[in-house]
Amino acid sequence: MTDSTVATLKASLRGGLITPSDPGYDDARKVYNGMIDRRPRLIARCANVADVITAVNFGRENKMLVSIRGGGHNAGGLGICDDGLVIDLSPMKYVRVDPKKKTVLVGGGTLWGDVDHATHHFGLAVPSGIISTTGVGGLTLGGGVGHLTRSCGLTIDNLLAVEMVLANGKFVTASAKENSDLFWAVRGGGGNFGVVTSFLFKAHPIHTNYAGPMLWHIEDSIEVLKWYRKFITKAPREINGFFAYLFVPPGPPFPEHLHLKKMCGVVWCYTGPLKKAEKAFKPIRAFKTPALDMVGPIPHPVMQGMFDGLFPPGLQWYWKADFVRELSDDAVALHYEHGKRMPTMLSTMHLYPIDGAAGRVKNAATAWAYRDAKWAEVIVGVDPDPANKEKITTWARDYWDALHPHSAPGAYVNFMMDTEGEDRVKASYGKNYAKLVKVKKRYDPTNFFRVNQNIRPGK
Ligand SMILES: Cc1cc2nc3c(=O)[nH]c(=O)nc-3n(C[C@H](O)[C@H](O)[C@H](O)COP(=O)(O)OP(=O)(O)OC[C@H]3O[C@@H](n4cnc5c(N)ncnc54)[C@H](O)[C@@H]3O)c2cc1C
Repeated sequence: MTDSTVATLKASLRGGLITPSDPGYDDARKVYNGMIDRRPRLIARCANVADVITAVNFGRENKMLVSIRGGGHNAGGLGICDDGLVIDLSPMKYVRVDPKKKTVLVGGGTLWGDVDHATHHFGLAVPSGIISTTGVGGLTLGGGVGHLTRSCGLTIDNLLAVEMVLANGKFVTASAKENSDLFWAVRGGGGNFGVVTSFLFKAHPIHTNYAGPMLWHIEDSIEVLKWYRKFITKAPREINGFFAYLFVPPGPPFPEHLHLKKMCGVVWCYTGPLKKAEKAFKPIRAFKTPALDMVGPIPHPVMQGMFDGLFPPGLQWYWKADFVRELSDDAVALHYEHGKRMPTMLSTMHLYPIDGAAGRVKNAATAWAYRDAKWAEVIVGVDPDPANKEKITTWARDYWDALHPHSAPGAYVNFMMDTEGEDRVKASYGKNYAKLVKVKKRYDPTNFFRVNQNIRPGK
């Protein structure tokens, strides 16, 4: 590739091009996980669809490895690549709410906090995750599990249409009516099929939830988990609650006597009528008095950003994940054994319920193949200090090794690092994998988009 080819690309991009000799290069190549250190050859900042088409055509014509960057949150750093071209969508941030239709149009590089801010004004919300700095792009295309999963479904269950640029540079819409095979595949199949430049979502009338963490002493966790597995799978859909092992942060609003204590708990989110909330929580509080009860009315965007301050960009993260169909007594005992060994203050384990509204959708209805599972489990070793990389990685791996025989074969692709291989991707899509391969072959026959949990187009 000559200097003049690169100069032509630079002149064609409204959003700008960043190369290794530019002063902003090191900032532009950083992603959320501080463990990832990749050096792309070119970073195309795309301001609009025309820029994305230019970048895709340039990557293809110059036979470059290409990654797509949405919010940059992916654990394995799949938004960035070594020695290739990054299609960086971060300038494409916009949110347009249609309060009459209760729909929201979102740019491909938008973060969830921007969506929550814009929709809240109209008393609306789109189901997302639990941290508001996560990108809409990656989270949605992988599925989207969060505080509203039991009440409103996965994020993809609320996706109405996408606009995207394919590997051949064509700009298309995918929805239930147009390119329906592509629309099926992007609902769980990740960034395998093209660059999504906009998402159209259905929004829900949600303004203030009755929500927050409720914690018990870690020594009580076998009892808590046994109660939780039964309660949550029978609870009404408007009650969501993910189980967690965590350390209590050493500062307000947490009481001093609990600072830095390892605890277990459930982070609840009730979306029913507020006046009925106390009654809905009566059986929860009656089960066992919590050591800390922070559950109460909270505006939706505040809840979505509740953990943002704890997890700034640049920390070291190591993730292991699985889907879980049954939480047996043996699995509960193993959770306690490994949960109590959490190695650092920010390390954690979450069990996200994926039943309720998400569980009502058939496995074959979208690419997301584990509707019959009850939880998406994720074990994450986290620490600011790179010297602790080994410690957090070993803990997460040992924990996962112990629990994996009690789990389903696959995992939620958005909770995986990039090193688990093709068999694991196959296991994560189960019976939907063969159809995904077909759709991939139709829309990306050369596997141009392969910096992702890759679905190969086959021969
Ligand atoms: C702190 C933290 C909390 C999280 N919490 C949750 C949670 O509660 N629920 C949940 O479901 N997940 C959660 N995740 C996981 C998250 O969904 C994934 O990391 C996801 O990949 C992030 O998307 P992104 O756009 O920020 O990532 P990026 O790193 O930018 O991209 C990740 C992948 O998505 C693809 N991609 C991104 N945008 C586009 C686009 N517009 N078009 C085509 N492909 C695209 C890329 O090709 C890449 O393969 C969390 C992650 C972190 C780090």
